Amino acid sequence: MVELLYLGAAVLFIVGLKMLGSPRSARRGNILAALGMLLAIVVTMVDSEILSWRTVVAGLVVGSVVGAALAIRVQMTAMPQLVAAFNGFGGAASALVAAAELERTGGNFSAEIGSVVAASIAIGTVTFSGSFVAFGKLQGLIPGRPIGLKVQQAINALLAANVIAFSAWGIASGSLPPYWLVVAAAFLLGIFGVLPIGGADMPVVISLLNSLSGVAAATAGFVIGNSALIIGGALVGAAGLILTMQMGEAMNRSLANVLFSGFGGTSTAGEMSDKPVNRATPDDVAIALGYADSVVVVPGYGLAVAQAQHATRDLGEALEERGVKVTYAIHPVAGRMPGHMNVLLAEADVPYEQLLDLDQSNPQFPQTDVVLIVGANDVVNPTARDDATSPIYGMPILEVDEARTVVVIKRSLSPGFAGIDNPLFYFDKTMMLFADGKAAMEAILKALKDV
Ligand code: NDP
Repeated sequence: MVELLYLGAAVLFIVGLKMLGSPRSARRGNILAALGMLLAIVVTMVDSEILSWRTVVAGLVVGSVVGAALAIRVQMTAMPQLVAAFNGFGGAASALVAAAELERTGGNFSAEIGSVVAASIAIGTVTFSGSFVAFGKLQGLIPGRPIGLKVQQAINALLAANVIAFSAWGIASGSLPPYWLVVAAAFLLGIFGVLPIGGADMPVVISLLNSLSGVAAATAGFVIGNSALIIGGALVGAAGLILTMQMGEAMNRSLANVLFSGFGGTSTAGEMSDKPVNRATPDDVAIALGYADSVVVVPGYGLAVAQAQHATRDLGEALEERGVKVTYAIHPVAGRMPGHMNVLLAEADVPYEQLLDLDQSNPQFPQTDVVLIVGANDVVNPTARDDATSPIYGMPILEVDEARTVVVIKRSLSPGFAGIDNPLFYFDKTMMLFADGKAAMEAILKALKDV
């Protein structure tokens, strides 16, 4: 009966995950997967008879209240930090499950179980400390640029070797102390592994940590022989790995390069900021847009900060009513989480057919009259294409400078996440409208009525 119910939970996970593939079914998919998790938790608690019903219900109530409060209160722009924290807690939970098994048995188990326990503790602890460093970077508590000594990679290699050596010692000796050394080395490895990764590489490292939290859960499932945990963990591990590879591809970087190159984000903000720019008013932009045949909107992180998605949709619709062809170019790492821009534009009911990905948009720019950039910066930075010394060199960008006119809406000349200046702002064809994204879109819409 228990295995059958676990199978039911696994089916709910898989169907839920599949439904996350489309914005239309994603909400229902999320609910199904959450129901699967509820089923798995209740079945485990009842089956193992380790806790009374009262404790199980109390745990569910406390967890649900904290989870619901976080989900309701968190700003959309702070979602990546929340995901990083969830990954961290997932890793810690898996390490604790393995540690509890260690305490229960006193380390006295077969080499097979010993290696799974060591793996669960090591991967779970790396995920925990690494995720909280990522959380600190995204929250601005720790500088976002790469931090580390020149010999950092050697230190990290030494820490990784220690994790393996202490694990082998624990398995061979059947005693507890080596496992606690695994915890210490893995904890430091998580911190020092993520600190040198910075700037535009964060999306890749967050999805990798997400994948690791799944692998830690799956190994914890092997430790306690729980098939729901094994299946759930494997799904998260695999989905996270696919996402990691896709994000790496989007950044044109291999995983090894992301993890070991200490790349991304020495600030050169001051270097170009005294160059002249073409300042524009909402009226200037309304004229450029109103007389265009085609407009491509490029949303970025600033659109999320300003919550400008509805105002952007309104402006898009007003332009279409005038016969202007409007599309939206979505860069895979725009914003602060995978799919960030798609979610925002879907929320504002922008038709899916108008959303173009990187490969679809780039060939269109040479025939585009106006590109309207709302709060995007790194994803349209031509240094990624033209300047081999740029920290983001090699990252595919939206080639907006191929269009006839470029309008950039942001509040200042401040750099984006990668911390580097953007020469696009100083091009002759670029008009800079310095304003909050939402206020600017509303002002342009108002001005368009008189064009
Ligand atoms: P950027 O972070 O490069 O730039 C965002 C710009 O928005 C800033 O330059 C800022 O300029 C502007 N901005 C902020 N607030 C507002 C506002 N209220 N109104 C108008 N503009 C505003 O964003 P992109 O989307 O171009 O690039 C994403 C970056 O984040 C990439 O480097 C990517 O690697 C990284 N990243 C992506 C993740 C993902 O999964 N998508 C995860 C983690 C990092 P100003 O202050 O002058 O207004």
